[in-house]
Parts: sequence; C-alpha cells; structure tokens
Amino acid sequence: MQRLLLGCIADDFTGATDLANNLVRAGMRVVQAMGVPTQPLDTDADAVVVALKSRTLPVKDAVAQSLAALKWLQAQGAKQIYFKYCSTFDSTAQGNIGPVTEALMDALGTDFSIATPAFPDNQRTVFKGHLFVGDVLLNESGMENHPLTPMTDANLVRALQAQCHRPVGLIDYMVVAQGEAAIRERIALLRAQGVGVAVVDAISNDDLLRLGPALKGMPLVTAGSGVAIGLPANFGIAPSSTASALPPATGLQAVVSGSCSLATNRQVMTFIKAGLPTRSIDPLQVAAGVDVTRQALTWAAALLGQGPVLIYSTAEANVVKTVQGQLGVEEAGTLLERTLAAIARGLVELGVRQLVLAGGETSGACVQALNITQMKIGPQIDPGVPWCHAQTYAAPHGGLHLTLKSGNFGTTDFFTKVFARLA
Ligand code: ADP
Repeated sequence: MQRLLLGCIADDFTGATDLANNLVRAGMRVVQAMGVPTQPLDTDADAVVVALKSRTLPVKDAVAQSLAALKWLQAQGAKQIYFKYCSTFDSTAQGNIGPVTEALMDALGTDFSIATPAFPDNQRTVFKGHLFVGDVLLNESGMENHPLTPMTDANLVRALQAQCHRPVGLIDYMVVAQGEAAIRERIALLRAQGVGVAVVDAISNDDLLRLGPALKGMPLVTAGSGVAIGLPANFGIAPSSTASALPPATGLQAVVSGSCSLATNRQVMTFIKAGLPTRSIDPLQVAAGVDVTRQALTWAAALLGQGPVLIYSTAEANVVKTVQGQLGVEEAGTLLERTLAAIARGLVELGVRQLVLAGGETSGACVQALNITQMKIGPQIDPGVPWCHAQTYAAPHGGLHLTLKSGNFGTTDFFTKVFARLA
C-alpha cells in the first residue's frame, strides 16, 4: 500500500466531509474515518480525514483525541498534518483551536504553523487578521450568540492568542498577494521573532492557491477547509475525475431527514410538491410509545420499488419549539435521532443502497446505527456535500452509497436531484 500524503484531523463530523470534499476536488483520493481508526488503513488513499467530535469537549479531552488521531495518521506514513476547524473559528478563550494546535506542534516537534479559517467559496474571508462572514465581521454575524462557542472578537490574532502560549502573528494579504517567495520570507521573519502560529489573510481562492506552495513541507497546517484547495498540487496531484470515483450505485433510494434548518425545510417541501412519497415522523407519537419505526418501514417497503421515498421529522421553528416545550429540547432531539437512526438502518435492511441523510446530528446517529467506520469520498453534489461510499453490515454485498447533508447546505431541489447525480 502506498504511503498516505496528507493526514487530517477534523474537530467535527460534517466539517470533516467538507474538508474531504475540497481535497477530492483538488484531485486527492480521500477516506473519512469516523473517530480514530483501530486498524491500519486498508485502502489506497492520498488523504485520510479523521473526524472527531472535539470542538466543544473539555480541552484535555480534545487534545488527547487529536493526539491519538495524529499517532494513527503518522503510523500510516502521513507526510503532512492538517488540523481542520470551523470556518467561523468556533472556539472559546480556553480552546480548543489553540491548545490542540500547540499539542500537535509539540508532538510533531515543529516551532511554526499557520491558522486561517478562510473559505471564500462559502463567504468566509480573512483580511488584516479579521474574519468576515459574508459582508460582516464574525462578531456581528450571529456567531456572537452561539450557545457553546460565542465569537465576540473578529480579530483572529487576538482570539487565537487568548488560547495559545506561543506568540501569534499575522501574514497579511499584501504578503499573500506577492506569492510563495514573499510568504516564505515572512514566515522566516516571524519565526526569527519567536512567533509560533501566524494567522493568514485570504480574501479569494487565488490567495489560497498562492498560499498552498508556501506550505509545502510544513509539518502542521491548521485551517478551515479552504486551504485544502492549494495543498494537493504540492504532492504533484492535479484535479481529476478518478479521484472521486465510487463503485457503481445500485439498489433502492431513500432520504431520511431530521434537520430543521431553513434550507432543509425548503428541500422537504420541494420533494412533497414534486408528488413523491413522503412520511412525516411525529415526535409526540414517538414519545407516546407508538412504534413509528415499524409503521414507517412498512409504509416504505411497499413504495421503495417505485423510486425514492422521504421520511422526515423536519419541521418549522415554531413547531419544533412547541414540541421542545412539551418534551424538553434534549429529550426531543435524542428521541428523534434514535428513531430516525433505526429507520435508516431498517431502510438499508430493506435494500436501500442509496441513502441521503439530512442533519449533522441526525446523520451522526444514523451512521453510528449502521456501524459505519469509514467512507470513501466521491463527487460533489453541492458545495460541502459529496456522495460517499461505505461498508456496513446492513449492506454486506457492495456496501452503501450515502450522503450527509448538514443543515443549511444544498440547493432547494437537493432531495429531488441528488440521486440523478449518482447515476
Ligand atoms: P442540522 O444540521 O440542521 O442542525 P441536526 O440533525 O444536527 O440538523 O439537528 C436537528 C436536531 O433537531 C436533531 O437533534 C433532531 O433530532 C431534532 N429534531 C428533528 N426534528 C424535530 C422536531 N420535529 N421537533 C423537535 N426536534 C426535532
């Protein structure tokens, strides 16, 4: 087996897929692992993204998991390590971006790394060290009210410094605009000044592509998913359709949606309006002990032969609020995640081999129920959302094609167009 080129550690699940998707589009063959694998890599891949759920864990747990991921990636021969976090730099003054970065630097024996969540394709740009979300600064984007990681300072040098022991510096857009040599020169200067991590400006994909060559040979890169577009070329890899090749798709088709985001509500509505078969899951019936899983599977079994079906708990905000008021926020979420996961597993047992899962938490629960430990990343459907292929006990011959759509991703006709993309 060939050695791994890029070893990636992502601090959440759908973010890992987002990174993997960018690497595939730049020509790498990518496998996403759910958690730190317990076995050596058993398939040819240029990059592996180890998906952790470490974003909001206590610092010491996030560090321990990230170091375990590093150790596994090193054992597979990874030549460069990429620590991937959210494009809105989700973290607190305690971490986890700074502490994980520094722990990885210590373990790798390196004195310098970069940090940039820039992802211009998704409206995340960094200018003079300040992160913009669309037209507004991070701390005016709504992220200042995030329940777990409120981002109240758009100055990333300051935000990261609060989490780091090493001095944090800046490589600004004027340097980035001049390209590789100027960036390398600035890195040398910052290093001489004792800076350990430099935030890098990037306001366009061109900036990221200019940054890429300057990162060649850097043991650790930390970033959102954007920087990934400029790295495969350092290994002599160019975009190609073979990178995203998956086995041919077969079998029945279904969508399971537990996302209540605005985009998902529109996507469900579009599927209903197209006259395709849908079945909603009522959380109050679940809570009352009705066997909605069995009912939904009986309903689906009769229809699957004719084309895709959609089973959803997706609801608008006011409906969700009412349910949460009656059942409790966590209780409602857990009940539905468990139910939708059982339904997803049942669908695969009924012969579904092309499965669309909507919702970050929902897809996490479904993937777990199917005991999926790794996925090969295939072609992009919409930005940040690729088709994938995985082995699962529930589909013993040939595995399962699946896609995990996080809340606000995907166009309005996502559920109706998605299967055609695979064909
Ligand atoms: P997203 O990616 O859109 O945030 P998630 O799956 O991560 O979607 O989160 C949606 C959460 O809402 C899940 O915990 C899910 O179980 C819960 N949920 C889904 N449908 C309903 C509903 N009708 N009422 C209350 N909670 C719901």
